[in-house]
Amino acid sequence: MNIAECKDYVHDEDGCFDEIMGKVLADVLQVKELLDVDVALPHIQLEESVCGDFLDCNIDAVFVGEDDAIHILASSRNGAIYQYFPWQIPRETMMEVMLQIEQQLKYTEEKKWWGIYQHFFKQDFQFWRREGRDLLYSLQMAVMETKNLKHNPFKPNGEKVNQIILQQFCRQWEYTINDIINEVNEGASYDDIRVCDNCGLPMSDGYYLGGEFACDDECCLALYNGDKAQMDEDLSHVDENGSDCYYTEWDSIFFD
Ligand SMILES: [Zn+2]
Repeated sequence: MNIAECKDYVHDEDGCFDEIMGKVLADVLQVKELLDVDVALPHIQLEESVCGDFLDCNIDAVFVGEDDAIHILASSRNGAIYQYFPWQIPRETMMEVMLQIEQQLKYTEEKKWWGIYQHFFKQDFQFWRREGRDLLYSLQMAVMETKNLKHNPFKPNGEKVNQIILQQFCRQWEYTINDIINEVNEGASYDDIRVCDNCGLPMSDGYYLGGEFACDDECCLALYNGDKAQMDEDLSHVDENGSDCYYTEWDSIFFD
């Protein structure tokens, strides 16, 4: 990402701001996870509209037109929609749009890697459980083996792992392991640990499904035998009193 480079050129009229910004935006628009896929034109919806300070417009989205050029979508207070090319927009404003996209990109990247590690970790944990190992041993092995990941394990020639997020991910499980060791030393039982009814992982947040627990979306769907419609229906009543299916966070992985 060359957004940092863009910053250097914002006030430099003869500089390369437009050119670099164009390249950065073109790159960003290749990131599938950022795009709204339900519509014909792939576009990035900004989480917060950027005040245009010109023509009374707010910038809402960036997309690639059929002409392959990058377009900026703006709306005015009375609802009118305008399209601009990036170079028609004041540099300062365009920079704000870029910074916001950078944030979204960062968040998307974190989410993607977290999902990859979680998936690998869960599979590894289940492998050791099937081998007949106990919960603690299986967790420890899964942390160790996840920590050793060098590349995305789910793709041939997978890209290099994001080490920072990998460390964060593993640290979270290391805390859980320490927690288990401490609590058990103080007399708690392994039976007091809340585990996912699908994969067996301990959980301090996740779905409660009328008596069953699911640690994440994947395990939740598995407990519904893949019946996504029923799952969505059940979980749509979360805000109603007495709902039996919801997502929540508990204070600890141990039952009270
Ligand atoms: Zn699970």
